[in-house]
Amino acid sequence: MDAFARFCCQHETCADYGKRGARNLTVCMRYGKDKRLRLLYCRTCHARFSERKGTPLFQARLPEAKVEAVLAPVAEGCGVRKTGRVVGVNRETVARYSGLAGEHARALHEELVAFSPADARGAVRRKMGLRGQERKAL
Ligand SMILES: [Zn+2]
Repeated sequence: MDAFARFCCQHETCADYGKRGARNLTVCMRYGKDKRLRLLYCRTCHARFSERKGTPLFQARLPEAKVEAVLAPVAEGCGVRKTGRVVGVNRETVARYSGLAGEHARALHEELVAFSPADARGAVRRKMGLRGQERKAL
């Protein structure tokens, strides 16, 4: 199996943008603490980018294990403040990583799922908004 099978070019104008397993990527440099992160090079468009680009871990200051510890309670439905207290990080940190993970999950969903049913909650919220306007009118 190709070592870069999970990765793809992140440069939007590249002909191989988003194509996993295209065999166009190499490691051109290691960086970060203890040189653990790889800087990938695309042979097609000659762009360089972090192996974390396009993930919630891109430019993360927390260690990967800590980010996972922050996101696990959030995935189980714990609130931002409660998660922050339990894990030992600021609630803003929890909110930021939750937002990043949510955007990433949405992008993955859009890529993998062909059809999504309409969100019924949107209709309920619209009704609630209308109800609020009706109250103001009275
Ligand atoms: Zn490329």
